[in-house]
Amino acid sequence: MWNPDSSPDRTFTPLPLGCVRPLGWLREQLRIQAEGQTGLLEQHWPDLGQNSAWLGGDGEGWERGPYYVDGLVPLAFLLNDSCLVARAERWIDWTLNHQHRSGWFGPATLEDWWPLAIMAKALTQWAEATGDPRVEPFLGRFFEHLEKEAPSRPFQAWAVARWADMALSIQWLHRRTGNSGLLRALAETHRQGLSWTHWFQWFPATAKPARETFRFSHFTHVVNNAMGIKAPAVEWEITGWEFSRAAVWQALLMLDQYHGQATGLFSGDEHLAGPSPTQGTELCAVVEYMFSLEKLLATFGDPLFGDRLEMLAYNALPATFDPWMRAHQYDQQANQVLCDIHPRAWVNNEPDSNLFGLDPNFGCCTANYHQGWPKFVASLCMRSEDDGLALVAHGPCEVRTTVRGAAVSLRVETDYPFRDTVEVRYDGPDGHRFPLWVRIPAWAKGATVAGVDAPEGTFHKVDRQWKPGDVLTIRLPMAPRVLRRPSGGIAVARGPLVFSLRIGERWRVVRGKEPLPDYEVLPTTPWNYALRSDGEAIEAVFEERPLRPPFFSPENAPVAARVEAAQVPRWTLVEGSAGPVPQGDLSHGSEERVELVPYGCAKLRITEFPFYS
Ligand SMILES: [Zn+2]
Repeated sequence: MWNPDSSPDRTFTPLPLGCVRPLGWLREQLRIQAEGQTGLLEQHWPDLGQNSAWLGGDGEGWERGPYYVDGLVPLAFLLNDSCLVARAERWIDWTLNHQHRSGWFGPATLEDWWPLAIMAKALTQWAEATGDPRVEPFLGRFFEHLEKEAPSRPFQAWAVARWADMALSIQWLHRRTGNSGLLRALAETHRQGLSWTHWFQWFPATAKPARETFRFSHFTHVVNNAMGIKAPAVEWEITGWEFSRAAVWQALLMLDQYHGQATGLFSGDEHLAGPSPTQGTELCAVVEYMFSLEKLLATFGDPLFGDRLEMLAYNALPATFDPWMRAHQYDQQANQVLCDIHPRAWVNNEPDSNLFGLDPNFGCCTANYHQGWPKFVASLCMRSEDDGLALVAHGPCEVRTTVRGAAVSLRVETDYPFRDTVEVRYDGPDGHRFPLWVRIPAWAKGATVAGVDAPEGTFHKVDRQWKPGDVLTIRLPMAPRVLRRPSGGIAVARGPLVFSLRIGERWRVVRGKEPLPDYEVLPTTPWNYALRSDGEAIEAVFEERPLRPPFFSPENAPVAARVEAAQVPRWTLVEGSAGPVPQGDLSHGSEERVELVPYGCAKLRITEFPFYS
C-alpha cells in the first residue's frame, strides 16, 4: 500500500488560513470545540490562565501557551468569531512585543528553542489570516538569530526531535520574502535535528518494549514519531535526497506494520507499543499525525495520504473526547471497555491515562489538541500546480479564493463521512475555466464525478468552463469492508469510518470540579461479542439517521449498523482492559443482533472482534 512509486508526482499548495471555512455539521463541530474545553481553559486551567508567562505572568512559560495558540488562531478565524480572535490576539501581541534585541523571543526564563518553533507556526497562521505586517520582520529577526546562535547554543531534547516544525516556518517565510539568508537558517535547523529518515529506513522498534527494560528515547516517543513522519519530506525539500523522499512511505509502512491500529493510528502510550487493540495512543499523536499528513498531501499529492487523514479526523480524533468536547483522554484504545484509574499495560503512562477529563496523565494534550479540527478543515481544499483547486479531503466547507485571476467560491455541501454524496456549487465569473481535482478514496469503488466514472485511489480532474450555480455531484460508494487485524480479529469499516460495538456507558465524576471535571466511564452492557463473518465479508444492515449535535455520541450516531453476534464468555477483562481477542474455536452463546456505531461515537467500544461463521 505505502509505495513511493505510487506517488503521482503532483504537489498542492495549502490555501492561506481563512480561504476554507467549515459549513454544515463541520461548522457545528467547530462550535462544539469553541464552547468546550478550548473556550473554557483560559478561565479554568492555570497553565493557560492570566498568569501564563506567555502573557507576562510568572506561570507556565514553556510549550503550553504556544500549543494552545497554534490551535486557537485557526479555530478563531475559521469560525469568524471576534471573541476568539480577540483572545488569540492577546497571546500574539504579547509575543510580538517581547522580542529581544538579538531576535530571541518569549518569556524571560525561556532558554529552549522548542516552544519557539510552535509559536512561530502560530504566528504564520496569524499573518495569513490578518495580514499583520509585524510577523514577517519578527520571524526574520528570529531566524537570523537562529542561524548565528544555534551552532554555539544548539537545540536540546524536544527541539532536536521536532526540528521539522521549526523548518516549516522558515520555509513559509522564505516563500513570502525570497530572502536567501533564510536558506542558511533552514540548513542549520536541519543540521541540528534527529534523522527521522534513518530512523524509519532502519526502524528497530518492531515490538512493544518490556516495562522492566524500558528506557526513554526520543525515537520511540509516539508524538515525536507522529511529527517525525513529515521530517523526511522536509529534508527532501531541503536536500533533494531521494532516500529521504522514500522514507516518508517507509515511515507509514513501518508504523502500520508494527504498531498499526484499525483507525489508521499507531499505538504509543507513550512510546510505540505494538499492534494490540488495547494499547493506547496519546491524543497529541493524533493531531500531530494529522498535521503531518496535511503536509505530506501537499508535498507529494498521494491520495492515500488523504484517505489516512480522513480516517484519523473522523475516527480517532472525535473518539477521544466526550461528545461536547469538555473532557479528553490522554490515551485512547481501539478495544476500550472500561475507563477508570487502573494500572494498565501501558509502556510508561499512568493509571489515569484513559480517563476523560481536564489533564489526565499529563497536560500536553490539554494544550495541544486544539489544532486538530481547525487545521483539518483549513486543509480540505488546496491549490493545484495547474492553478486550479483540489478537494484533497472531503467535508462540508466553503472555499473562497482567486483562481486564474478571478475570485471564485466553491460551496462543498455534504454530510460526508456519514453519507456518500458530495455536491460542489460554483459561484464566480460565467465561463471561467479552471481544473478541479477531486480525491477519490481507495475504498470508493464505482465512484462517479458529474456522472463520469472516477477510478478509486486517484485524483480525478474536472476541467470545464464554470457557470454560476453549477453543481458538481461526487458519489463515493461506501460498501462495508472487513479489515483483518494482527490480533487475529476483524474490524468493520464503511467509507472512512470504522465501526465499533456500542456499549452502554455510565459516566461518573471521579475528581476535579465543574465545569471541567474528570470522568470514569463504566460499561453497563456486555462487550465480549464475536461477530458472524467469514473474515472476508459481513452481513451488516446500515441505517442512516438524522444528523444532530453532538454528532460523536452513541445516542446521536448519524449512521449505525446491525450485525449478528454472540457473546464469548471466556473473553474477559485483563488488567483493566479487554483481554486479547480470543482465537481458535469460539464456544459462544446464542446469536443476537447488536449495534455498531462509528468509532468516534463510541466512548466505550470493541473495534477488533473475534469472528465465527
Ligand atoms: Zn499529549
